[in-house]
Amino acid sequence: MSYRIGLDLGSTAIKVVLAENRALRWCRKVPTAPGQEALAMGLVQACLDELGLSMSDIVSIAATGYGKKLASGAGRTVDEISANALGMFTLSGGRCRTIINIGGQDLKVINLDENGRIADFKMNDKCAAGTGRFFEQAARILDTPLEQFGEMSARARETLELNSTCVVFAESEMVSLLAKGVDKESIIRGLHNSVARRIANLLGRQALKGDIYLDGGPAQNAGMVEALEDELLAEVHVLDDPQFTVAFGAAISD
Ligand code: ADP
Repeated sequence: MSYRIGLDLGSTAIKVVLAENRALRWCRKVPTAPGQEALAMGLVQACLDELGLSMSDIVSIAATGYGKKLASGAGRTVDEISANALGMFTLSGGRCRTIINIGGQDLKVINLDENGRIADFKMNDKCAAGTGRFFEQAARILDTPLEQFGEMSARARETLELNSTCVVFAESEMVSLLAKGVDKESIIRGLHNSVARRIANLLGRQALKGDIYLDGGPAQNAGMVEALEDELLAEVHVLDDPQFTVAFGAAISD
């Protein structure tokens, strides 16, 4: 058995995975907070304990994510784009050609060729609108857990799209919609529609080639996936543990 560990020190969540022979065997996350390395290594220890392994069973530990340099316990670092590309290509069984990653603070689109190599890459990290933080802020304003966004948007009574392209304005737009009596379900649906529009703009006018996969924490939100499919007029695939593809890619990288 070959066991490898990947740490993804992301802007909002620290993710740890254990890969066993290029398959995802174990994964867990904690919110990002000061002392990132200790938090990540705490998860590593939990993984070893639960699987009855010791550090000597581990071939390598690799770190990725914006805080990757803080992980001194890792033998090497891997950039987020390469880790995402390798992780998604492998976990999709070589089918993925377009990755849409919604992270805590940025949006990324990565195009892959048939060998999993990066053919093109675009990122929007200038504005928090459309990112995981934006969803977290919306959850606070609407006083609704993020985990309920998917099923709630399916019950929306109205079709609307938030016009604001900036988080600060989107916040006041949500507050004023609530004040007008618009149901939370429709606001959440509108939020998904506006994020889907932002993603479509980032993709540009290029024809979408091959299978599209969404990853990052917000990929767990079925309402977001549906809004994206409606906007792109294409099927959007989501793997079982979409928040862990980047950590997995780091784990199995050379
Ligand atoms: P990063 O790597 O930048 O920390 P992640 O890919 O880990 O980003 O995504 C973090 C985001 O995922 C959070 O900001 C939150 O919006 C979203 N998220 C986490 N869990 C869920 C969930 N169960 N449903 C919907 N969104 C979620």
